Amino acid sequence: MSISKNLEAVEKRICAACERAGRKRDEVKLVAVSKTKSAEAVLEAAEAGQILFGENRVQEARSKIPLCPGSLQWHLIGHLQSNKARIAASGLFRMIHSVDSEKLIRALDECAAVPFPVLIQVNISGEGSKEGCAPEEAAALIEAANQCRKVEVHGLMTIPPFTPDPEKARIHFSNLRKLRDRLQKETGTPLPELSMGMSHDFEMAIEEGATFIRVGSEIFGSR
Ligand SMILES: *Cc1c(COP(=O)(O)O)cnc(C)c1O
Repeated sequence: MSISKNLEAVEKRICAACERAGRKRDEVKLVAVSKTKSAEAVLEAAEAGQILFGENRVQEARSKIPLCPGSLQWHLIGHLQSNKARIAASGLFRMIHSVDSEKLIRALDECAAVPFPVLIQVNISGEGSKEGCAPEEAAALIEAANQCRKVEVHGLMTIPPFTPDPEKARIHFSNLRKLRDRLQKETGTPLPELSMGMSHDFEMAIEEGATFIRVGSEIFGSR
């Protein structure tokens, strides 16, 4: 297994999905999810040209990121407790994809020194993972962030329930896009970003409008 070969293969599949959907390649940003993997693995991906990486745990990221090239960009994609907001918002990450409560929004706003982009994680299917707010709660979270000085909501994120057939994830991706369209109108907040799609189903997500896909095992191997 070679990380650079894997990245090449993922890139080809991203391009093909963009083409099928009539989208430009630069509308989709690849977040290489390096959770549980070493700084050496990150370096290998970086040497192959990957700049944007995702981690799901603050503690792990905090020890790994300083061992990696300083030119890389890091996003937090996993659940964050408000008592870790300070670490997450003080320079470790450029963006948090997994914001799902007003308490966390307020905690991040208190700690961030510069404008801080976040995505609201929505449990769009209402099943599976308990993480993410209910679709009905998303508007209130966006309004709460609009009252903040530093936190800025740039869009939505979701993790659909796992199904062996990735085609079954499509409905959840299109529902997230529709929710985004509706929230944009209702709140008057631009929400350009949709973070959806993982190793198993990123092509479907691209076809349904993803702007960030979060891919781990297809790049770094199974965990
Ligand atoms: C682990 C993880 C991913 C990547 O999962 P793969 O199936 O390995 O691509 C994406 N998003 C989140 C939130 C994750 O925790």
